[in-house]
Amino acid sequence: MRTLVVGAGIAGPTLAHWLARGGHDVVLVERAPARREGGYLIDFWGAGFDVAERMGIVPQLTERGYPVRELREVDDDGRTIARMDPRRVVARTGGRFVSIARSDLAAVIADTLEGSVETIFGDTVRTLTEHRTGVRVELESGASHDVDLVVGADGLHSRVRRLAFGEESEFERYLGIVVAVAVLDGYQPREELVGVTRTSVGAQVLRFAQRDGSTVVAFTFRHDGAVPLEDLTAQHELLRRRLGSMAWEVPAMLEQLPTARSFYLDRASQIRMPSWSRGRVVLLGDAAACASLLAGQGSALAMIEAYLFAHEVIASPDDIGSALAAYQRRLMPFVRAKQEAATRMGIAFAPRSRTELLLRNTAIRAARVPWLADLAIGSTLRDAINLPPTHLPPMGG
Ligand SMILES: Cc1cc2nc3c(=O)[nH]c(=O)nc-3n(C[C@H](O)[C@H](O)[C@H](O)COP(=O)(O)OP(=O)(O)OC[C@H]3O[C@@H](n4cnc5c(N)ncnc54)[C@H](O)[C@@H]3O)c2cc1C
Repeated sequence: MRTLVVGAGIAGPTLAHWLARGGHDVVLVERAPARREGGYLIDFWGAGFDVAERMGIVPQLTERGYPVRELREVDDDGRTIARMDPRRVVARTGGRFVSIARSDLAAVIADTLEGSVETIFGDTVRTLTEHRTGVRVELESGASHDVDLVVGADGLHSRVRRLAFGEESEFERYLGIVVAVAVLDGYQPREELVGVTRTSVGAQVLRFAQRDGSTVVAFTFRHDGAVPLEDLTAQHELLRRRLGSMAWEVPAMLEQLPTARSFYLDRASQIRMPSWSRGRVVLLGDAAACASLLAGQGSALAMIEAYLFAHEVIASPDDIGSALAAYQRRLMPFVRAKQEAATRMGIAFAPRSRTELLLRNTAIRAARVPWLADLAIGSTLRDAINLPPTHLPPMGG
């Protein structure tokens, strides 16, 4: 079977990995001219960790990951007002937990494809035409591909979704929060393995020092107006306008934006669709069911979806319709539950009022009491989904 996957973020390469192991022929098409850098630090556990283990990449993830020793909330003057030790959470998972930069996770997955999967950078799909036995895909470059299946793994603002299913506005639910992440070189102060946040009503700023000398700075804030998705200058301006009055280190961070090594800004949105496939075109990851930053698990979800999708397609290559239906049946309730939980998490990233802010900080302090932490965190660390076993040979094997 020949599959064309659009988008080389997290979901696309994970799917390519599994399909290639199942003996399928896969082409990945990525709009960016090279692997994309940047993004925040993600926590990775649960069924996503299980998928990583089956891909044989846990040693690389652990090597590039950060054993974070403290999450600290500070006031306007940088004084600690609450702190927690995330190693408790890690221990609760039996060590099956990694905090890693999104770009490192993406790179580790992409490395597994070397020599097995062709990746075309700097191109994207222009038209999709389905015929009786497959799909003809025309790319912007003029190249065309005849394939059995097209997978849109091209993120929240998926073009494949627009071409095959309809406008983004039909499926997007904006949660009223914008997320922006800058990677700054030479930022001071630095504290190794400590995440420091300053949260005020409607906004939060976080910094975390990375081991190559850079610091990742994440901004989340409530915003009702338009969000510029392409215009970098307008994005920086939006941050300055909305966060310029915050104290702590925020003015210095905003000042360094123009020299950031990488910058990412987007709406915290969810994608909710009644169906993830139409004929031989199917969506995966954020394109299908983005749960948003507030879910804290977007990359792991993307990997779980990719694993289960590949499992179904490899099991029924001659009956794609049934495979796609099974993929959706297995995953949709699980993903919907994650989305619902995420809609209640705005309080953690951008509390709406002083009362919400107080509640949030009290919850962080309470997390220092072991039994309370176990009560609050325990259930969120279990993923209510069973992964079928894989009997596929390792990559290249
Ligand atoms: C550079 C980057 C930084 C990120 N940082 C954050 C962050 O800080 N916080 C957060 O909440 N989420 C962030 N995300 C989103 C996060 O990675 C996803 O929520 C999650 O990993 C799900 O993965 P995905 O593969 O479905 O989507 P993504 O990881 O978004 O990957 C989608 C891929 O498709 C590519 N693409 C998009 N459109 C096209 C097109 N028309 N043709 C071909 N390729 C296309 C993109 O360049 C990207 O490589 C970031 C995504 C990227 C790409």
